Amino acid sequence: MSVEEIISTSGARLQWDASRQMGTLWKGYTSIGFRPGRDYAVVNGHEIVDIGPVVGNSGSIRFSEHGAQEVVRLLARVAGEEQRRIAAILIDPGHGGRDPGTIGRHRVGDELFEIQEKDIVLDVSLRLRRLLEATYPDRQIVMSREDDTYLTLEQRTDLANAIEIGKHEAVLFVSVHANASLNSRARGVEVWYLTPEFRRPDLLDPEQVGVSDPDVLSILNTMREEELTIESVLLARNILSGIHSEVGDVSPNRGLKKEAWYVVREAKMPSVLVELGFVTNRDEALLLGDPRYLQSLAEGIYNGIVTFVAGFEQ
Ligand SMILES: [Zn+2]
Repeated sequence: MSVEEIISTSGARLQWDASRQMGTLWKGYTSIGFRPGRDYAVVNGHEIVDIGPVVGNSGSIRFSEHGAQEVVRLLARVAGEEQRRIAAILIDPGHGGRDPGTIGRHRVGDELFEIQEKDIVLDVSLRLRRLLEATYPDRQIVMSREDDTYLTLEQRTDLANAIEIGKHEAVLFVSVHANASLNSRARGVEVWYLTPEFRRPDLLDPEQVGVSDPDVLSILNTMREEELTIESVLLARNILSGIHSEVGDVSPNRGLKKEAWYVVREAKMPSVLVELGFVTNRDEALLLGDPRYLQSLAEGIYNGIVTFVAGFEQ
């Protein structure tokens, strides 16, 4: 059976990775990865299912009769009873304690106005937690710090990676920061995610997935990485537009950015880093010192997360 027939039967869509000669069938947030020449598929990046031989390339991929039926059944199953769920959201206010982050100093009248990143991001994060806890009483809302404490980057991601979740559950990692620039005119909001080309060899625990063949494990890792990229981009996009609709043109939308920052690289889950604005811009620093503005930033991030969660669990 051809992949087109599977698509029309199941309503899935095909994503073809030409460089790796790998295909992924997507239905909602459910993925089934396959590769011509292999006789297994990977469901949601962690479950291996025997589907018999897959032949061809992007132009014409064919599955065995048994394999096609299995794929259609899996797409229906995962879309049905095995509902995916966000079990926990980790909010990570950057810096803290002896690490103030970036500092903005500006003259306001006769006074010196000073603002520190660690305080702004903690304030917004606490507001965000309140909003999320009210909406999601049945999910874990975790803070990496809830006061002026110093944490290493490793402690932050270890905390996220250690959250216990079920088989079809996921954790979201949202790190909150404020920006600085030598250019005092620079201002606006950015949301960062991990560079899609970045490959982490150890996303999956071989024991947990029950695979010891390094070749299979490496393919599983790649698929998991691509899945996480798609989810992180969606989360980043939702948060950015959430903030933009709250604050409007008060702070320019500087868009999505990608970089292998430690926290997004080491958190093995959909993860983003939000830059709330520039403390080095006088107008923006004054805004970031206003609790009402911090509340709208928190509501913007919150709206973005809620939109993402609704889509993820569809
Ligand atoms: Zn920072």
